Amino acid sequence: MSNESCIFCRIAAGELPADIYYQDDEVVAFRDIHPVAPTHLLIIPKRHIATANEFSDTDTSLIGRLSITAAKLAKELRIAESGYRMVMNCNRDAGQTVFHVHLHLLGGRAMSWPPG
Ligand code: AMP
Repeated sequence: MSNESCIFCRIAAGELPADIYYQDDEVVAFRDIHPVAPTHLLIIPKRHIATANEFSDTDTSLIGRLSITAAKLAKELRIAESGYRMVMNCNRDAGQTVFHVHLHLLGGRAMSWPPG
């Protein structure tokens, strides 16, 4: 189900421009518009899911696809050996600002832990 007011639904539908690195029938990966690392991609399901709180058991394959796509892109972009981070923010305390589930793929620099 697509949501007309959701910017990531509109990117997935090709209605808004994005620097797309990969897409298939279920997921799209594109460059974050405000990158916080030399490599910063977002991997999203094409189907609108607002937050991780809405995940259900029927989404197992789709959610796996997000991580596998991120890992494949990390190899293609040559950050797999040096390392990378996958991040999915959920709701206010995590700083989620776009309410369409997305996995951040961050790499190309050393990162600290714990996150701020
Ligand atoms: P989050 O804080 O986890 O919800 O992350 C949302 C991310 O979406 C931020 O890193 C934004 O820079 C990014 N973003 C927002 N709008 C766009 C857009 N039109 N194209 C690409 N990235 C976007």
